[in-house]
Amino acid sequence: MSTYKPFSDFSQEEVIVGSDALKQKYLNLFPTYKGLERYNLAFVQKSYTTNTRVFCEKLSEYLETKKQNVKVKYSSEIESFIFHQEESKKHLVKAVKLWGKTDLVECDAVVLCAGSFIARLMKDNFGLSCPVVPIKGYSFDMPTKVPFHDVHFQFKSEAFVATYLKEGVWRVAAFGDVAGQDKSFDPRRVRYLKNMVADLMDPSEAHSYVNLNTCLRPTPPDDVPIIGPLKRYPNVFLNAGHAGRGTTIGLSTSKLVSELIMDGKASVVADPTPYSPRRF
Ligand SMILES: Cc1cc2nc3c(=O)[nH]c(=O)nc-3n(C[C@H](O)[C@H](O)[C@H](O)COP(=O)(O)OP(=O)(O)OC[C@H]3O[C@@H](n4cnc5c(N)ncnc54)[C@H](O)[C@@H]3O)c2cc1C
Repeated sequence: MSTYKPFSDFSQEEVIVGSDALKQKYLNLFPTYKGLERYNLAFVQKSYTTNTRVFCEKLSEYLETKKQNVKVKYSSEIESFIFHQEESKKHLVKAVKLWGKTDLVECDAVVLCAGSFIARLMKDNFGLSCPVVPIKGYSFDMPTKVPFHDVHFQFKSEAFVATYLKEGVWRVAAFGDVAGQDKSFDPRRVRYLKNMVADLMDPSEAHSYVNLNTCLRPTPPDDVPIIGPLKRYPNVFLNAGHAGRGTTIGLSTSKLVSELIMDGKASVVADPTPYSPRRF
């Protein structure tokens, strides 16, 4: 059994190697899931669930109450950027235009966290290549009678993860499909996931799933998030490319962006250069 840091400064996983160690430490908590016993290796992170929607709603409520100048605009997308006219400032964005709105949102700086859409946003507005590829995953929730444990399963072969969402409910997620920005369901992939769950866990649980969903993991070629200012547009900052770890590392990467904007240097990582958009 060993522990390593897959991502310096951000998150930690426990790695269990060997079927005996795995059985002794975790699988005996799930005696009915015989299919899991074929594995010899597991990556375990405890207390792994975050409801990001609830988190965002609470955060915006907090910010709007505590800070007078915060206004959260849900369901608004940036259409284009307005630059300063003066020669000396012509690479600085002074406002953004939102789709369907005529009035502009003025800004001193803009942070783009557009996930899998960052590549198109960069190309269309700044003529820049930002090689972030959407890697599509599927998820659904299924009832379980297995008692609650703060343990979830992660099997990298299929990017398969089963997480306890709440008492009596697993959330199952899997796959890393390169399918563009299309979020529709491929029925063959849904069937395959269902079969995989039936095989690994419990057939009766797998067949009564709800909340089928797809989402995209915005993934750069080096699988390192893209954080920092653009070279030629110094008040445009990126915070994108979190791939499959955005919920885990998003707070840290946001802190890094805020330090780069406010202080011009970072304290959360020794060296922010590896994350810079300038590497592409
Ligand atoms: C099945 C699955 C399971 C996952 N499980 C985990 C997990 O357990 N732990 C973990 O850490 N991570 C997990 N992830 C990864 C995590 O979901 C992503 O890393 C995270 O969502 C990326 O966050 P983001 O804010 O960078 O991008 P996104 O979540 O893609 O958000 C980008 C947002 O930008 C918006 N946008 C696009 N264009 C514009 C525009 N022009 N103007 C304004 N807004 C725009 C989009 O509408 C979208 O809301 C999982 C992903 C999948 C698919």
